[in-house]
Amino acid sequence: MLKKIILTFCLLGSVVIAQIKVVTTTTVIYDLVKNVGCDKVEVDYLSRGDQDVHFLEVLPSYMMKLRKADIFFQIGLQLEMWAPQLVDGSRNSSLKIVYLSDSITPKEVPTTKVDASQGDVHPQGNPHYWLDPYNAKAMAEVIYLELALLSPENGSYFKKNLDAYLLKLDKKIAEWESKMSKLKQKDIIFFHSSWIYFTDRFGLNIAGYVEPKPGIPPTPSHNADIIQLIRKKNIKLIVTEVFYSDNAPKQIASMTGVKILKVPTQVYGLENIKSYIEMMDYIVNQIANNG
Ligand SMILES: [Zn+2]
Repeated sequence: MLKKIILTFCLLGSVVIAQIKVVTTTTVIYDLVKNVGCDKVEVDYLSRGDQDVHFLEVLPSYMMKLRKADIFFQIGLQLEMWAPQLVDGSRNSSLKIVYLSDSITPKEVPTTKVDASQGDVHPQGNPHYWLDPYNAKAMAEVIYLELALLSPENGSYFKKNLDAYLLKLDKKIAEWESKMSKLKQKDIIFFHSSWIYFTDRFGLNIAGYVEPKPGIPPTPSHNADIIQLIRKKNIKLIVTEVFYSDNAPKQIASMTGVKILKVPTQVYGLENIKSYIEMMDYIVNQIANNG
């Protein structure tokens, strides 16, 4: 069988028997699946990189993607509240659903009963764990195990891809840790509560959030509190995801001179961000160069 030359760092597998059909909720998972599965998987994602993954319109086209899939990888921790409806609509009784959150230790798990007054708090813990690259390694390992279960004949192929990817990621992690080391305990304001895994990993301090509560849009009185906090602690940065409105950060910046960094937290969150590693490179460089 003739094989096309694929210009990625994927190892070339033996003869393709059947591709595993994978759907992922996010583009970060999509990228990890591509790196582990390479030419033995056909992978598609649902939420675009420049969309807020908390919300997704339930479209029949997404159900169709799931109808033909073997496996559906999700972040879990109730980030994708829209996913069960899509699974129901797909009528695919053999679809395997995997929550990658099972491979990590959740942070900010509420100790009291969660209700709507606390905003969009996730009762099982903060679901934004992929922003810690060590968690991305854990995610890639689970993806490998699941692909190998579905296609044992390709198990060693997936393992080689996994090992090559983890090696590459480890080198980048060392680079990211060294770049961030000069910012230890630096106070930063973030827009949404998506950063605890990132800040814990790299030793930054979350001074506050532009959202008064997770998922609750900014208010004038909370903006005033943030402006006071920035002045008191001489904070230099607000970090926000590309899909959030600029209005409140800009207003806060006009009063304080604080710098706003808009960063992608998914692959394709910006046009030139085509992988998890490029995304993390971008975030780390932006914060390290401006912090
Ligand atoms: Zn969130």
